[in-house]
Amino acid sequence: MKQTAPIRQCVGCGQRDEQRHLVRFTLGTDGALHLGAGNGRGAYCHRQPACVRAFATSRSGPVRSLRIVVSREMRAHYAKIIEQDLAQQSEQ
Ligand SMILES: [Zn+2]
Repeated sequence: MKQTAPIRQCVGCGQRDEQRHLVRFTLGTDGALHLGAGNGRGAYCHRQPACVRAFATSRSGPVRSLRIVVSREMRAHYAKIIEQDLAQQSEQ
């Protein structure tokens, strides 16, 4: 079988998709969220406001790929960072 593109799961809608359709963010050991590759546990979200918002308002407990429980407040904070990044990209 042919090698397929890496598949990641979106933390917003929960669907699996090719990695290139998703934005990666990393949770540093300091608990801060960083967009892009970095040290620490990563998670992925679709480059779509709907998925970012779904992540922000999700009640589904721990983010499995991060192995932590992300509080509602932190989700909203993360969502804002991702949304700002998406907005910047669409302006370019
Ligand atoms: Zn999604």
